[in-house]
Amino acid sequence: MRKFIFFKVFRPKQRVVFAVILVLLLGCALYPYYASCQERKAVEALSWTVASKVIVVDPGHGGIDPGCVGKSGVQEKEINLAIARRLSTFLKQAGATVIMTREGDYDLSEEGRAPEGVRHKDDLAARVELAEKYQADLFISIHINSIPLSECWGAQVFYHSGSKESKRLAGLIQKELIKTLGESHRWIKPEDFFVLRSHKCTAVIVEAGFISNPREETLLGDPIHQNKLAWSIYAGVVRFFAGDPLPKEPAYD
Ligand SMILES: [Zn+2]
Repeated sequence: MRKFIFFKVFRPKQRVVFAVILVLLLGCALYPYYASCQERKAVEALSWTVASKVIVVDPGHGGIDPGCVGKSGVQEKEINLAIARRLSTFLKQAGATVIMTREGDYDLSEEGRAPEGVRHKDDLAARVELAEKYQADLFISIHINSIPLSECWGAQVFYHSGSKESKRLAGLIQKELIKTLGESHRWIKPEDFFVLRSHKCTAVIVEAGFISNPREETLLGDPIHQNKLAWSIYAGVVRFFAGDPLPKEPAYD
């Protein structure tokens, strides 16, 4: 009852103003949730476009190759696999055939080929071969970034400049990452990485964030954040097969 006594302190006109302000504040607070629900529904309505597609999901590194390692000791290969598994689940639910390049903690090189350089090359070549073997429509590689500057953060998608479709897919995934995770002032970038230039199919590398940034290192280990990353990649794939055009880079102030 106390809240009503509190309300009686105001005059009738003041009550109306108070109620309007309350409704507006509530609307502002709930709008982001409403907008994200609408976005999710829009992607779900288009999910049929993914059915029957063959998609190779490639969690980078594995086995003797941990990838980059955070200050807390968390290894890139583990995070890559966790995100890839979640992405695989979303894609399979939509009816896609998913080929994971690895399901556990191992690399794809032939055992016994000791020299580090050769083994790494073997590993990458085997990942590319998988996409060819299954005549994949898409190859999506998942990695984590690391640089000496600890301030840098944000997910970023790479593609090969020789493939327009790879650029379109990269842009659509990047747009979804911005929608879900917020603006990081990062945009898609052409790169000449082996797994990008060697593919006959559309191929991208998603660098899911910077393990060298302490805040992002913690986030990357968080299953909720991993789920957001996987959903963003999935939403980008859905929009790609739905025929959405390459989005424009957002204008920054
Ligand atoms: Zn990596």
